[in-house]
Amino acid sequence: MTTRTRRRPRQAHPRLPQGLPEYDWGTAPAEEFATRRQLRAAGLRPGGHAPVAILRCKACTTRPLRACTRLAYLYRVDLAKPVRPMTLAREAALDAAMAARSTCPVCRRRYHYVLPLRTLGSCLECWDGTPADPSTYIAPRPTHQLAA
Ligand SMILES: [Zn+2]
Ligand SMILES: [Zn+2]
Repeated sequence: MTTRTRRRPRQAHPRLPQGLPEYDWGTAPAEEFATRRQLRAAGLRPGGHAPVAILRCKACTTRPLRACTRLAYLYRVDLAKPVRPMTLAREAALDAAMAARSTCPVCRRRYHYVLPLRTLGSCLECWDGTPADPSTYIAPRPTHQLAA
């Protein structure tokens, strides 16, 4: 490259950088396209389909030649699918798995961290008497006492 090419004025922003149509802020048809975040707010997800358009950011509306660095991808609303309704069940399963890994089988305390159950089989306090910091565990629920 020569100095001459370097001194050339900046090239205009190519309007079709990825072969997708671009919309300026506020000009995309809302009933047709939505960003991932907008889909999410409506309880939808792209559902595997690729973005179909690009939305330029607000700041770019006054600078049409600028290359947008904060663009958003737009998805087709009619191809969007509802968010999987399993979230609660999945969360419960994940929590149960975490509880199993952080609960001492000897003293039944649930710690805020994963215990070395595979090597020690219990918490450190049950293993060698090292007192555990009470702020690092939740005391076991009383099973034989009446809740009063
Ligand atoms: Zn922009
Ligand atoms: Zn223990």
